[in-house]
Amino acid sequence: MLRKSNELLSKAHAEVAKYIRAGVSTLRLDKIAEEYIKDNDAKPAFLGYRGFPNTLCVSVNDVVVHGIPSKYELRDGDIVSIDCGVILSNYYGDCAYTYEVGEVSEKIRRLLSITKESLELGIKAANTNNRIGDIGNVIQSFVESKGYSVVREMTGHGIGRNLHESPEIPNYGKRGSGKKIFEGMVLAIEPMINIGKKEVKLEKDGWTVRTVDGEVSAHYEHSVAIVDGVAQKLSTFKYIEEILNTKR
Ligand code: MG
Ligand code: MG
Repeated sequence: MLRKSNELLSKAHAEVAKYIRAGVSTLRLDKIAEEYIKDNDAKPAFLGYRGFPNTLCVSVNDVVVHGIPSKYELRDGDIVSIDCGVILSNYYGDCAYTYEVGEVSEKIRRLLSITKESLELGIKAANTNNRIGDIGNVIQSFVESKGYSVVREMTGHGIGRNLHESPEIPNYGKRGSGKKIFEGMVLAIEPMINIGKKEVKLEKDGWTVRTVDGEVSAHYEHSVAIVDGVAQKLSTFKYIEEILNTKR
C-alpha cells in the first residue's frame, strides 16, 4: 500500500513538472497537483495538516521548505522545490524535487546535483548494518566536503499510516549514533542543503522557512522501505525526469 501511495505521488509530481516554467504561478502548480491526486482517488496529505492551506509546499530560491503556494509567478533563473504528500487507502507517501526554471547559473545547478546525490548516499546508508545517525553522517560529510551546509531545524522522518512518525532523521550526525535501522522500517529521507550558511528563520506566516543569509537552498526527498536489509525506494523521480527530458 505504501508503494502504491508513493507511485501515485511520483506521477502527481510528474504532472506538476509538465507546467514548471517562467510565468506559471505557484498556486496554479498547487491546483494541478490537488486535482490529479483527487482524480486518482487519493487525498493530498499536506492540505489541512496542522492547518497548512495547500496541497504542495512550493519553496522558491532562499525558501528552504514549507513555502505556501501564491500568485507569485516563477521567473527564469529561479529554483523551486516542490514537496508533496498523498494519502491512498490510509497510507502516506512523501516526496520532494527541486527544479530549475529556465536558465539557472552553473553555481546553483551544482548545488542541486550535489543535494540530489546526497539523498542517494543517505538512502544507501539506510540499511540494517547501520543506525539512523549514519544516514545523516554520510549526507553531512558529503555536502560539507563540497562547501555547502546542512539545515538542522527540519529532518526526515518515519512514515506509514501517519505523515510524520518516529524516528526523526537528521541530515547531520555522528557515525554509529541513533536508533538501529531494522527490517520493515519505512523512512522519508530529505536533505535540505544551503549554498551559504546553515541558519534558517521562520516567517510570520508560521510556515515559510528561509535562509538567514538569503542564499538559495535545495531539497530532495524519497520515501524508502527497508527490505532484505537495504532501502528500496517507494517513490521515484523516473516520471519527473521523463518529463524534464522531453522539455529539453
Ligand atoms: Mg516532503
Ligand atoms: Mg517529509
